[in-house]
Amino acid sequence: MTVSIDGQLKQAMKTLMDAGSDSPHIDAAVLLCHVLDKPRSYLLTWPEKELDAAQLAAFEAVMARRLTGEPVAYIVGEREFWSLPLKVAPHTLIPRPDTERLVELALEKLPAGACDVLDLGTGTGAIALALASERRDIVVTGIDLRPEAAALAEENRANLHIANARFLSGSWYSPLTEQERFAVIVSNPPYIDGEDPHLEQGDVRFEPKSALVAEDHGLADIQVISEQGRQHLESGGWLLMEHGYEQGAAVREILEVLGYLQVSTAQDYAGLDRVTMGCWQG
Ligand code: GLN
Repeated sequence: MTVSIDGQLKQAMKTLMDAGSDSPHIDAAVLLCHVLDKPRSYLLTWPEKELDAAQLAAFEAVMARRLTGEPVAYIVGEREFWSLPLKVAPHTLIPRPDTERLVELALEKLPAGACDVLDLGTGTGAIALALASERRDIVVTGIDLRPEAAALAEENRANLHIANARFLSGSWYSPLTEQERFAVIVSNPPYIDGEDPHLEQGDVRFEPKSALVAEDHGLADIQVISEQGRQHLESGGWLLMEHGYEQGAAVREILEVLGYLQVSTAQDYAGLDRVTMGCWQG
């Protein structure tokens, strides 16, 4: 068997394809780059370069992990979101491209000038750091129930030199004082029904259930965030939440019953209902 970059790459792609992976090319390339500690361009520039014994062993080890279904983002410990390289860990959800839609919509709702923004269930800090990097004049607070997640988000903040974000640990709004108010509150909360068969497939099998699953058909946390959000939104402030593609109507109803105005749902890049928002006139 050839130990060149090109040979290893082809072999790994075939192994992943035979195992039923739906992204064998990209997975093999990302894993090999991780082992070699080189950018993707290196694989194309040096296809004949041979791996040494340690690199071969390391590549075999990460391939074995991938073949058990472990997400590539957990194996390499990193995932890009909003062009920001973020560290990820098994106690955080892996940031999804569709969540960038929530960032875009939140940026549209942000008033001009300095203001405060809250990201609930921040995980890696992805949403909070994307917003803070786009708008250096705002201050973003990210909260996560798990102290390890808040610490990881803080590490990502420091690595990216983003000064206008801070991370706290606790359940939803609990680390805040009663008086704290925000112009925009965003959240990608757990919203999957515990019975959803999709929890047994692909990457989500390895992600923390606490970041994915909520009671009451996946709506329990959205309900709490919406209810208590009224205490923490400025008058005219916006609440925006990501949710499942079949939950748009239910989330609009939650917001309307609680007295939010201008309630609407926006679609993700696949055209599916994904983010519902409402304005609070306190
Ligand atoms: N969108 C994710 C999925 O369906 C779930 C994210 C979440 O629960 N917040 O895999």
